[in-house]
Amino acid sequence: MARLCLPDGAVRGVDMEGARTGAHMGSYTPGRDGTVTVDNPRHIKALRELGAFPANLGGRTGGGFRCVACSFGSFFKKCSRCGGACERES
Ligand SMILES: [Zn+2]
Repeated sequence: MARLCLPDGAVRGVDMEGARTGAHMGSYTPGRDGTVTVDNPRHIKALRELGAFPANLGGRTGGGFRCVACSFGSFFKKCSRCGGACERES
């Protein structure tokens, strides 16, 4: 099982059915923290190819926000570590 972060809105809630594996994968809709929990290794691999990455990496979030004060990577404009303001990462 793995918790994956999906990089942006284009991938969020992606319908994996008919993805490049050809498998019927159902769909994954991220929770409030922008992650999905996947327990099928093939699904994990396919999602990784789409740009998803393990949620436990910490630091860079990709497509999220970066805290101005402490450089923490956040999915939200308000830093989840220090509460400071975050700017969108590009
Ligand atoms: Zn911060």
